[in-house]
Amino acid sequence: MTNRRWWEIWPERLEFEIEALKALGFDPIVDAGARAAGQIIIRFEHSVGGQTATFTAVFPHGYPRFPFELYAPELRLGHHQNPFAGNLCLLARPSEDWRPSDHVARFLVDQLPVVVQAGTATDLGVVEAVEEHQAEPVSVYYDHADGSLVLVDSSWSLPSATSGSLELGVERIEPLRAAVVEVRTAGAPPVVALDPIRARFPTSLRARWFRVDAPILEATPAGLLARLIALHPDADRPQWVTHGSVEVDVIGILFPEEIAWRTAGDGWTFVLRTRPAGSREARRRARDRRTRPASPTVSLARAGRYGTADMLARIPVLAPLRDRTVSVFGLGGLGAPSALEFARAGVGCLGLLDGDVVEAGNGVRWPLGLAVAGWGKAPAIHDLIHRDWPLTRTRFARWRLGTAVAGEDHEGEALSTVLEGTDLVFDASASLVVQRYLADLANERGIPYISVWSTNGGWGGVVARIRPDGQACWLCLQLALNDRLIPHPPEDPGTRIQPAGCGSPTFTGTSFDLAPVWAAGVRLAVSTLAPDAYGAMDWDVAVVSLRDDRGGVIMPTWTTHRPGRHPRCTNHV
Ligand SMILES: [Zn+2]
Repeated sequence: MTNRRWWEIWPERLEFEIEALKALGFDPIVDAGARAAGQIIIRFEHSVGGQTATFTAVFPHGYPRFPFELYAPELRLGHHQNPFAGNLCLLARPSEDWRPSDHVARFLVDQLPVVVQAGTATDLGVVEAVEEHQAEPVSVYYDHADGSLVLVDSSWSLPSATSGSLELGVERIEPLRAAVVEVRTAGAPPVVALDPIRARFPTSLRARWFRVDAPILEATPAGLLARLIALHPDADRPQWVTHGSVEVDVIGILFPEEIAWRTAGDGWTFVLRTRPAGSREARRRARDRRTRPASPTVSLARAGRYGTADMLARIPVLAPLRDRTVSVFGLGGLGAPSALEFARAGVGCLGLLDGDVVEAGNGVRWPLGLAVAGWGKAPAIHDLIHRDWPLTRTRFARWRLGTAVAGEDHEGEALSTVLEGTDLVFDASASLVVQRYLADLANERGIPYISVWSTNGGWGGVVARIRPDGQACWLCLQLALNDRLIPHPPEDPGTRIQPAGCGSPTFTGTSFDLAPVWAAGVRLAVSTLAPDAYGAMDWDVAVVSLRDDRGGVIMPTWTTHRPGRHPRCTNHV
């Protein structure tokens, strides 16, 4: 089936757009070349506030399900217009505010006067009523190199000086992937990045920064650099630094930018000049041979905001986790995704313990695949968190609890590493012996203990919490399960399997059937660590069924329980 054009499906719709514009007295022209290439573009002249401008309406492939774009670059509005391409912001939320019955002529009559008024007004009282309260950061329009990123922290209080030096932690040069780790200026104390950011980017590079009073309205790297040099002649001469096989000069441009509705903050963009490394002599000889030396390549790198406050913007209820430590025991199909979820949630420090190696076949229910097969599970998760969530510090031990090795106290060391300063023990070991051991260790430390396990086949699971100030201990919980005071989750009656080449039997079950269990375990842990901010759970044990009595698939169905002290428990005499 061929992909039909919207104006072939609805020819009367295109006719209607044109006739409606003519009715307003315009002379709309449909671009014939664009139409032959498969797109409708309509141009017309329109006078706005005494100024005549060319308007260009560009219609999307899926018109009229999606809105057209209206370009009028000669208008030069201060707001509500892309400062480079000139398209107008006629809808605050194009995906929500557009109706397929809308059309260009109606927008010219109803929307354009409002947008022009708000876009040129400086009096907040005038714009208050008519515009959506959202920031319009100019840097989103810059022509940044694909994949470039330089981290900054929105909470920095930057000096008001006009220039200074920078230290960048660098991961790679082209495209530039780096972090600002220090901002310096004469006569002011340096602004310094968080330690985990410095550790994440071990190679450093000296650079410079310049402040400008208004955003530079040039989208291209060369155009932006030329305008910067006109304002700061010092920026003209690169200060080359050798980095591997290239020489590089990086300049951070600081400019006022909307960070909230009509509120200016510090915006950043980075200009990068590179040329092949080599001695001046080599470059001079190259000139002698009448071969033009390659001029530096200029590109732009986008800023990324990555302070602790920036990372909490989307998850404000998790702020208390920043200074909490969680110890995760067992990094299998439940423990590994839980550990990553704690890192995503912004837990300040994680202790990780697992003695296993990632099997190639683990990838069917493990967060990472073949790239880490053959490595230890604990170092693999540690490396991933260090790379992707560096604000979470991790310590790990590659150790199987209960192993007796002559000579040294490896287990004592492993436990010290993983439990140091911990606020919560999260047990995904799936071993009754280990559970009892860890529940006792948590009890000795007076901290909460949470255990998660799944049943064979991934048919069900249990999430259980032992509170240091609670009634029930781990043995009370086991007795309650034995007595069926707490129901058992369903279980595949088939036997456990031992995949070829795997050192020990394991259970069958899919990653997505384990997900409800570990997600509930993480929620319970977060609720335990931040009950006021996130919310408290009024239960200690939850049991989930993903299959009914006959083994048929059902939606996850939970029951929650709050076991008390068990009369036969010997721990409370
Ligand atoms: Zn007990």
